Amino acid sequence: MTLTDRDHAVQAAVAQGLISPAEPVAGLLDIAGIRRSAAGLHAAFEEFAAPGTPVLHAFAVKAASLVPVLRLLSQVGLGCEVASPGELALARAAGVPIARTVLDSPAKTPAELREALALGIAVNADNPEELARIDGLIASAPTTAPIGLRVNPQIGGGTIGAMSTATDTSKFGVALRDEGAREWVVQSYLARPWLTRLHAHVGSQGMPLELMAEGVRALFTLAEEINEKAGRDQITTLDIGGGLPVNFSSDDTTPTYRAYAALLSEMVPGLFSGRYGLVTEFGRSLLAKHGAIVARVEYAKSAGGRPIAVTHAGAQVATRTVFVPDAWPIRVAAYDAEGRPKSGAPVAQDIAGPCCFAGDLVAENRPLPLLEAGDHTALLDTGAYYFSTHFAYNSLPRPGIYGYRTDPDGTVRFATIRTPQTLEELTEESGAAHTAALDALG
Ligand SMILES: *Cc1c(COP(=O)(O)O)cnc(C)c1O
Repeated sequence: MTLTDRDHAVQAAVAQGLISPAEPVAGLLDIAGIRRSAAGLHAAFEEFAAPGTPVLHAFAVKAASLVPVLRLLSQVGLGCEVASPGELALARAAGVPIARTVLDSPAKTPAELREALALGIAVNADNPEELARIDGLIASAPTTAPIGLRVNPQIGGGTIGAMSTATDTSKFGVALRDEGAREWVVQSYLARPWLTRLHAHVGSQGMPLELMAEGVRALFTLAEEINEKAGRDQITTLDIGGGLPVNFSSDDTTPTYRAYAALLSEMVPGLFSGRYGLVTEFGRSLLAKHGAIVARVEYAKSAGGRPIAVTHAGAQVATRTVFVPDAWPIRVAAYDAEGRPKSGAPVAQDIAGPCCFAGDLVAENRPLPLLEAGDHTALLDTGAYYFSTHFAYNSLPRPGIYGYRTDPDGTVRFATIRTPQTLEELTEESGAAHTAALDALG
C-alpha cells in the first residue's frame, strides 16, 4: 500500500517520540499542504479579478491561533482577521503587517477600538452603538484606519445553526432586512465620508456555496446603492468574509477556492470588476485538511458487546465533534504501535477520549481495524479549530503541535509549533499563585 505524507508523518512522530506514553497526544500540521491551500486561494481570486484589483486574504485567526502558523501565512502574503485583543496580540507577535490586519469582533471594548484606530488597523463596526463609539473616538483622535460596517443580509442559514451568521436573528452585524435598517445604513454612510468599507460574513461550515454567493451579492448591491447616493465611490473595499465549507468525509479538497470564485464571478460579476478592493476572511478551508491529531490508545475494552478504544484525544481537542457529533463528524484513521496504518477487518467500535464524562467519544460504532492498547488513532481534517482551540476540561494539558514536511523519499522533518503544556504551567494557570488566598476570607 502507498503511504501518504500523513502516514509517513505519523510513523515518524511515533519513532521520534513526539507521541509517546508520556506525551500521548499531539497535533501534526502538513506545512506543504498549508502552502498549497494559500497558493490556491491567491490563484483563484487572481484568475477572476480584474488585473490590479487589490485583494487581501485575511486568515481568520480563531481557526488556528498559533503564532508560527500566522507567520507562515503572512510570509505567503496573507493577513489576519482578528476578533479579540488576544488574537491581535498573536498576529502582531507573528509580524503580520498592520495593513494586512482586520478587526471584526462583535464585542469590541472602547480600549480595543482606541488601540486599533491608533495602530491603523482596519475595523468593521458591528452595530449602531459601536459606530457611535467610533464617531466619538475619531472626533478626538483622527485615524488612518479603514473603517467599515458589518451587515447581515439575512439570507438564511446553512445546515449548522451555530455556524449560520445570516439568519433573521443572528447576533452579528446590522440586520439589513429589518424595518428601516437599510435606510439607516445608507444614511450612516452618507453622514460619514470616512466609512469606506462594507463587510459581511454570512456563515461557516454547512453553508451551501450558492447561499454564500447570495450574501455577497446582497453586499455588492448595497455598496452600489450607497455609492450611487453618495455620488462618488465612497465604498472602496468589500470584505466578503470567509466560510468556505470543508469536506470532512474524504481526502478530497471540495469545494475549491476556484469553484467559489467562479460562482461569485457568475452571480456577482461586478465584484471582480476592479472597482472595489476585496478582503476575504477564510479560516477553516485553509487549514482543516492539513492537520491531524494523533493519540495513543491507552486501553481497549468492551461494554455491552461494543469494543471501546480509550484514547488520549477527546473533548479537550475535538470539542465540537464530541458535543455536537451529528454536525461535526470526523474521520478517524487507525495506526499500530509503531505508527503504521493498521490493517485488519473493520470492527464497529467506539473511539473514546480521556475526559470523565460518558459522551467523550470522537466516533461511535465506527468500523475500523480493531484497536488495541498501544495503537494510535489519528483524527483527520483537524487542522482548523481543533487542537488550536483547546478545551481545558479535566485539567488536561494543551498538547504539543508540530509542523511537518514529508520529502519525496518519505523522510519527515518536524518543527515545533507549540510545546506541550507542562503540569507546572497548568497549575500556575489554575490559580497556584493564590493558593492560600481563600484562607483570608475565613
Ligand atoms: C469565523 C469567521 C471567519 C472564518 O470562518 P471560516 O468558516 O473558518 O472560514 C471569517 N470572518 C468572521 C467574521 C468570522 O467570525
